[in-house]
Amino acid sequence: MMFHGTTRDEAEALDDLPPGDRPHLVVIGNGMAGCRAVEELLARDAQRYRVTIFGAEPHVNYNRIMLSPVLAGEKTFDEIVINSREWYQENGIELVAGDPVVGIDRVNRTVTSQTGRSVQYDRLLIATGSDPFIIPVPGKDLPGVISFRDMKDVDSMLAAAAQGGDAVVIGGGLLGLEAAHGLTLRGMKVTVIHLMQTLMERQLDEAAGWLLKQELESRGQTILTGADTAEIVGDGKVEGVRLKDGRVIPASLVVMAVGIRPNTALAREAGLAVGRGIQVDDHMVTSDPAVLAVGECVEHRGAVYGLVAPLWEMCRALADGLTNQPSGYTGSVTSTKLKVSGIDVFSAGDFSGGDGAEDIVLRDAARGVYKRVVVKDDRVVGAVLYGDTADGNWYFDLLKKQEDVSQLRDLLIFGQAFASGGGQTDPNAAVAALSDDAEICGCNGVSKGKVVACINAGNATLDAVRATCKASASCGSCTGLVESLLKVTLGEEYAGERTVKTMCKCTSFAHEDVRREIVAQGMKSIPEVMQRMTWSTPDGCSSCRPALNYYLLCALPGEYQDDQQSRFVNERMHANIQKDGTYSVVPRMWGGLTNPRELRAIADVVEKYNAPMVKVTGGQRLDIFGIKKEDLPAVWADLNAAGMVSGHAYGKALRTVKTCVGSEWCRFGTQDSTGLGVKIEKMTWGSWMPHKFKIAVSGCPRNCAEATIKDFGVVCVDSGYELHIAGNGGIKVRATDLLCRVATEQEALDYCAAFIQLYREEARYLDRTAPWVERVGLAYVQQRIVEDPVGREALRARFLYSQSFSQEDPWAERAAGADREQHAHMAAFTPIHQKEIA
Ligand SMILES: Cc1cc2nc3c(=O)[nH]c(=O)nc-3n(C[C@H](O)[C@H](O)[C@H](O)COP(=O)(O)OP(=O)(O)OC[C@H]3O[C@@H](n4cnc5c(N)ncnc54)[C@H](O)[C@@H]3O)c2cc1C
Repeated sequence: MMFHGTTRDEAEALDDLPPGDRPHLVVIGNGMAGCRAVEELLARDAQRYRVTIFGAEPHVNYNRIMLSPVLAGEKTFDEIVINSREWYQENGIELVAGDPVVGIDRVNRTVTSQTGRSVQYDRLLIATGSDPFIIPVPGKDLPGVISFRDMKDVDSMLAAAAQGGDAVVIGGGLLGLEAAHGLTLRGMKVTVIHLMQTLMERQLDEAAGWLLKQELESRGQTILTGADTAEIVGDGKVEGVRLKDGRVIPASLVVMAVGIRPNTALAREAGLAVGRGIQVDDHMVTSDPAVLAVGECVEHRGAVYGLVAPLWEMCRALADGLTNQPSGYTGSVTSTKLKVSGIDVFSAGDFSGGDGAEDIVLRDAARGVYKRVVVKDDRVVGAVLYGDTADGNWYFDLLKKQEDVSQLRDLLIFGQAFASGGGQTDPNAAVAALSDDAEICGCNGVSKGKVVACINAGNATLDAVRATCKASASCGSCTGLVESLLKVTLGEEYAGERTVKTMCKCTSFAHEDVRREIVAQGMKSIPEVMQRMTWSTPDGCSSCRPALNYYLLCALPGEYQDDQQSRFVNERMHANIQKDGTYSVVPRMWGGLTNPRELRAIADVVEKYNAPMVKVTGGQRLDIFGIKKEDLPAVWADLNAAGMVSGHAYGKALRTVKTCVGSEWCRFGTQDSTGLGVKIEKMTWGSWMPHKFKIAVSGCPRNCAEATIKDFGVVCVDSGYELHIAGNGGIKVRATDLLCRVATEQEALDYCAAFIQLYREEARYLDRTAPWVERVGLAYVQQRIVEDPVGREALRARFLYSQSFSQEDPWAERAAGADREQHAHMAAFTPIHQKEIA
């Protein structure tokens, strides 16, 4: 081949340049590989090169693999930025963003950008990644047909999704399914068109592909396998996709995710050796010694890659080469995970079977688990895991090392803890048993040895590990492994904190994730949530069950059947258990008012069931102590007969509405605080909430009802009503924040309903209003309740709709007639479908 560029001797002479006259490294491509290569170089010798990076995209370096979570609404763009502008500045790197390089002159060693900028290089690094493959069918250029490669594509998808309607994703591979998932979560009706019979057929066998298809269909996607695209139809913009069998699938958006091609155009034009990709040696040097290439654009020993793990290895070898260290890249074995929340899929190696290959399979239909490990000559050669991927890294490690597994053969399929722990399944033991070079974070190419070294260097939290060695900093699927390593390495010293607190030990999802998925996937029962979100325990625990029960109740008013077994004992018994094992019973007294009939009924109960004590509570009710558990149903029947309902003094619900006497009797009262308190209580009682909720209404600023330490407090003033929120009189006393002032009683009622519903929909289970408001900020609540009248009205309507079921809820102790008036009032409100709530 004719050689026009720098010779190897000339390139090596660069290393002898005097200090201060640093050679200039120009990088084309500000993507994952280009920037990682620079990071590796800086880590070895920050002063060695002067660096300029050209990027076609207008952004700083971001984590491309996290575009899927951005599309799905799980991350923001800012959260996936890898290197901020400060990073470039601090390291003296010149970033030319949004200006692609259009030509390389290897003779004069310059590159020229689209805007005409010409820059001289001593070493050039090409890291141009891949181009999405667009199938050459009629209509491919219609507006509305896009690929899924960069932030611009995500923005286009989000804009399309905001209009709603139908989307077609062509390609049922990793990328296509992640796009389909995101668009579904964004509210589009999605059809996936896949040429082959099996989804992700390059990673999954037929069985796992089928399970995946079932799961996606049950989430509302239409999956057409064995479907061949003939044409994209539309007049001026995309309107649908016609298949070769004649079917037309309507679509206002078509995402092509059928594959990628190494982006080699520049290199080819510059006369570099190009095969399937830009050809490089083991130090990522192209056919021109002054020009290197790294990432998806390269071909190394005949292989091209489409995942990040190999790129990290390439970048290390490249930086070693640039700083005259030996090593070298010898190729990668890759594994794949799908980033669709609640669907665990892992695949590595060759699962095609063939001569001498032996399949070991485990199916657990109830748990939706499928595992297949392919063994050949006593070595693992492939693994496909669906539903339980915890052992993926272990199988991958065995595969890469080609370890002899003949001794583990019988236990292999049950996972590492079983196979190497004699039947004990301690995940920490399993991680401890991994070898030092076992890969922990595939996204960032971080081995167990590196994570442990990072922890030992003083990084004692998950966040610190993420920030320092990048393990778990990308897709997050190895977070559990990193946490296990923290536990194993630090022992008792590991505090176990996480930035995002998981709901409990049964799941790696946070409360917010679970709530979002319940609504997004339309999940209807606790077992369904556990199955779909792959709970690690069969039935959950005392932390997650009540939370799930609450989230489902809140999301599906009237539809979800309350699960009594998921409630705490007090809520099951409708009474408060006391330290001697008896119960105390608090009937509701609306606004703190009572009458002879109620008092007589309470007196009768006290005598009939030998209650040793009756006490006036701080919430202005009567508490009957010392009731035996077996008497509780009869006690409630007697109270119900007198028209009294539970005061929910035990519940994560509205407790009491405390009032003072107000303008009716008090010389200082400005408004009818008692009357308003009764109205508020009648409107809000029986509403399940994340935690207990207390209300008070004071008739004047003297505030006798102590409204300014309640979850919702009203202080009546001459001009109307001051509405206060997020107070607390418990262990940590907190005065309320002033939400706003309103003029009429009806407004006070409306704002109260809207505030409660916002709290019900957005606070985590067991969050009181005070920490919740502190977390989200008073300004946020004001914006939702005060400044957005349409949103406030929607919240209020959702609350009242939910109440129309909750107050009809067949509680054993509920008195017929106690809430009749309220129900009639409720009937005036139109039900809102849950979808609108999302
Ligand atoms: C949505 C999505 C999800 C993914 N998920 C995963 C995953 O879960 N796991 C995994 O391992 N991999 C995943 N990948 C693949 C992974 O992102 C790629 O392997 C990786 O980004 C490749 O890095 P690269 O630097 O070679 O290319 P890129 O990251 O694409 O960077 C190349 C950059 O070069 C720029 N460029 C191109 N031409 C020029 C020019 N002439 N001048 C200047 N700049 C130019 C491009 O604009 C781009 O910014 C995913 C990819 C996508 C799109």
